[in-house]
Amino acid sequence: MSGASPDTHDVLVVGGGAAGLMCAITAGQRGRRVCVVEHANRVGKKILMSGGGRCNFTNTGTTPANYLSANPHFCKSALARYTPWQFIEMVERHRIAYHEKELGQLFCDVSSKLIVRMLLDECEAAGVQVETSCSIEQVVHDDDGGFTLRTTRGAFTAPSLVVASGGLSIPSMGATGFGYELAQRFGHAVLPTRAGLVPLTLSGKHLDRMEGLSGVALPVTASCNGQAFSNAMLVTHRGVSGPSILQVSSYWQPGDALYLDLLPGRDALDWLQAQQRERPAAELKTVLADVMPRRFAQRLCEVWLPGAATPRPLRQFNLPQLRAIAAVLAQWPLVASGTEGYRTAEVTLGGVDTDGLSSSTMASRQVPGLYFIGEVVDVTGWLGGYNFQWAWASGHAAGLAA
Ligand SMILES: Cc1cc2nc3c(=O)[nH]c(=O)nc-3n(C[C@H](O)[C@H](O)[C@H](O)COP(=O)(O)OP(=O)(O)OC[C@H]3O[C@@H](n4cnc5c(N)ncnc54)[C@H](O)[C@@H]3O)c2cc1C
Repeated sequence: MSGASPDTHDVLVVGGGAAGLMCAITAGQRGRRVCVVEHANRVGKKILMSGGGRCNFTNTGTTPANYLSANPHFCKSALARYTPWQFIEMVERHRIAYHEKELGQLFCDVSSKLIVRMLLDECEAAGVQVETSCSIEQVVHDDDGGFTLRTTRGAFTAPSLVVASGGLSIPSMGATGFGYELAQRFGHAVLPTRAGLVPLTLSGKHLDRMEGLSGVALPVTASCNGQAFSNAMLVTHRGVSGPSILQVSSYWQPGDALYLDLLPGRDALDWLQAQQRERPAAELKTVLADVMPRRFAQRLCEVWLPGAATPRPLRQFNLPQLRAIAAVLAQWPLVASGTEGYRTAEVTLGGVDTDGLSSSTMASRQVPGLYFIGEVVDVTGWLGGYNFQWAWASGHAAGLAA
């Protein structure tokens, strides 16, 4: 370390999450004197709870198309300059065992703790100072253009301030609106935020119709606003969840039409006609129970499938009737009333408007030395390791510049 007074650094990073730690490592490796200021009692709490405790730390199929943003081009540069393979290289160097679960999603074999340990070891090797349980009381923009953070652990000063304070999801884990407020104070636009990757709730008759189905899971393709996700859906006490629903929730807003294909990968009419030929004496609910949970098949027949409420053999359905049933199976309307909100959401959509940031460095266009990275920025990934990849990539981009 240099002989400068202890509270003077080159780079201050607010937030010791995925993005902040990666930024600190990258800047530290360049010889910058970096201090991470984290208000929680430990860093990386969301990493610890991620992926069911095994951290889905990246996705090998990451492309800009896996992200939502008012400017879909913004994430391209950072993602291209820090790829999943660069993070995998670090994971392998630290001998952390991992596996691919599905669709390019990489998880730790043992525990998310190993990822946090790796990041802290890298911080230490790069000479990064990490202050936990450190609450910021005031952010001062100094006359010389630098920044001073007045905190419960003293004052820290640096010419660069990187805001990596994350989004609003899971307030119990330390999420705050700090980054958005700071951005606005420095003249940045903040796009409206809402919960993403979140279970959907149903109400009224739509919830009543699902009564007793809680716990039932089935493969579906969920479609909304031109996006479709094939994966499991899970019926909950208050609505629906499961990966397909979490994915599509990021594209849904109250009032938007949402459809589920209940026979994903099959042409519903072809399938029904084949069943009619092969099992003419069987009832619809019986053949449906071969491809989805019995309770769900029964409820579909009782409530949604035209002409199927009264038991009768398949041979008694004519072509127009089969067509009408196929139409519902292929495009089952799901009328959601809302989401479970930030309490359970994995991410926050919206945030610091990318128009005010450089896509190659994450630097503010209006305030020299100020940077925004990770989830606080209006870039939100799909479920499956994409959000961490954005945190690593945007953190790396700022770490190279700050
Ligand atoms: C339950 C859950 C599971 C998830 N699983 C996955 C997964 O498997 N794969 C994946 O890719 N993504 C996953 N995500 C999303 C992922 O965790 C986030 O996208 C990612 O952590 C964002 O990184 P970040 O560094 O921007 O923010 P965060 O990781 O949220 O870090 C922000 C940090 O800033 C701190 N902070 C906030 N305000 C202040 C303040 N005023 N002063 C000081 N510090 C402050 C916070 O305490 C926190 O440590 C999951 C999210 C949740 C909630």
